[in-house]
Amino acid sequence: MTLHDAPAAGAGLDVDALVIGAGFAGMYQLYRLRKLGLRTRVLDRAAGIGGTWYWNRYPGARCDIPSLFYTVSYTPELNQKWQWTERFGTHEAIRAYMEEVARQEDMHRDISFETTLVAADWDEGSATWTSMTDAGERIRSRYLIMATGALSESRVPDLPGLGGFKGRWFHTGRWPHEPVGFTGRRVAVIGTGSTGVQVIPVVAQDAAETIVFQRTPKFVLPAVNVPMTEEDARPVKEMYPALRKAARRGDYGTPFPPPAEHLDEMSVQDRETLLEDLYTKGGVGSFVVSYHDHLGLKKQEVNDIVADFVRKKIRETVDDPATAETMTPYGYPIGINRIIIGTDYYETFNRDNVRLHSVLDDPIVEVTATGLRTQNAEFEVDDIIFATGYDGMTGSFTSVDVRGRTGKTIREYWADGPSTYLGLQMADFPNLFLITGPGGPSVLSNVITTTEQSIDFLMGLIEHARADGLDVIEADADAERRWMEHVADVAQGSLYRDSYKANSWYTGLNVPGKKVVFMPYAGGVGTFETILEDVTADDYRGFRRSAAARTEVVPDQPQPAGG
Ligand code: NAP
Repeated sequence: MTLHDAPAAGAGLDVDALVIGAGFAGMYQLYRLRKLGLRTRVLDRAAGIGGTWYWNRYPGARCDIPSLFYTVSYTPELNQKWQWTERFGTHEAIRAYMEEVARQEDMHRDISFETTLVAADWDEGSATWTSMTDAGERIRSRYLIMATGALSESRVPDLPGLGGFKGRWFHTGRWPHEPVGFTGRRVAVIGTGSTGVQVIPVVAQDAAETIVFQRTPKFVLPAVNVPMTEEDARPVKEMYPALRKAARRGDYGTPFPPPAEHLDEMSVQDRETLLEDLYTKGGVGSFVVSYHDHLGLKKQEVNDIVADFVRKKIRETVDDPATAETMTPYGYPIGINRIIIGTDYYETFNRDNVRLHSVLDDPIVEVTATGLRTQNAEFEVDDIIFATGYDGMTGSFTSVDVRGRTGKTIREYWADGPSTYLGLQMADFPNLFLITGPGGPSVLSNVITTTEQSIDFLMGLIEHARADGLDVIEADADAERRWMEHVADVAQGSLYRDSYKANSWYTGLNVPGKKVVFMPYAGGVGTFETILEDVTADDYRGFRRSAAARTEVVPDQPQPAGG
């Protein structure tokens, strides 16, 4: 039986668009669909808005994009009034901002929380999606939009014995809402990516002992998080419209221009002075997050200069030479993972109550009732924190039973690696849209910029098609194939081709059994913007449009008064 064979909840459509996810992407999607006059409902499995910021409440969680630029475009008055108190916002501050955006735009009335999409099925005859929630509710919609985020499916490694652990254990991406104290406790932290780097220094301040289980050593740059006054923020706020435009044209979804310096052509003395200065103020990463030919994502010589500089900093900062050496990354370029920024990360390993354990040298074999056993040792702990990451980019799409025209699920469709047209759509999945999907710039960016970029384009496409009386949109299979070839070529033309050497989640290598392929579009947000403009000007080249048989939206039932 398919979802369509089940008894219908009512004739016709329940809504025009069903959006999954109430993070930044789902919120903007709701805002824009309402502007088009389309009846929209949003589902989220969380109990409140926030998406990734709803779940990531671990100690130290904050954003790696400066607060002033981690704001949405559609609440300009709020953005002028909103006072960010630090250069990089905490999870609490970002959630408070999102709550205020949602309140101002009266979003909650269209969002169903604690409601999970479990299956969705395309019906060719009526050209509708029928979606099923975990409560058994069926929702028929014309459009189905997955605003489910690139980092939603958290991964706890499959370690034997975890069920028998007598202490507490947490995954950072599913952190409890009530405060979790670590005072006087022995804590194991597994994972040293962006998340581990944030949580370790904060936990170490309270814990009796913190044991860090590191697998692949990482390059960590100082965040240089500083307090921010309204006076500091004012010049940026005054230029918001221009800066937003610049962010759309930037490589990384931010308005900062790439560095002009050619590091490999400078004298050793001059470049040391420059890098030292940037290391203190923040900004070394700018040499390895842009795609210009003289910068470190394209030029190995420049990458080596920056990587060596960071290696030197690790040796200078970590007192114990053996620990410093274990923490020093070799064998892959800097910047091919998302740049990790931290506060007092390397310094934390100089504390008496912090120990490093290299999982590469001595792997974890099981969780015992009282801690962790490695091949060569046993560690007694009270708490285990898994900062072990996500089934990135594809997990939130493949974990749901979404079936297109041929009856294939997304997981089946992507068996040989993810495939989309512009990160937005797949052939055989009409009217299904992915926000920040693989094949788009998504995670190689300020994600607010890229979600808005994708949604603006999609809204233009839907509006354009509807103006012609066409309400079914589907990526052309050839256009999709050619786009994915281009995505692969672009990655090959940069040092991202070496991402697998760093076990990067950009490639899927961190998930056992997942097809290994570099997933995002690495041409830069600005280049992608130009491509979207070009596709738009060329009558939305690559998107087939057709008319559906008329299926009317069931109007809202009048609500009883006083309830
Ligand atoms: P991650 O980058 O995937 O890091 C996961 C860590 O866990 C890695 O050190 C990994 O080692 C380790 N690990 C995984 N499985 C393991 C196992 N079985 N045994 C031992 N170690 C294991 O995940 P994340 O730190 O949560 O970050 C994911 C992304 O979220 C970031 O890249 C970033 O985009 C975003 N994020 C951003 C911020 C921010 O804005 N500041 C903060 C947190 C997260 P290997 O490297 O060897 O796989």
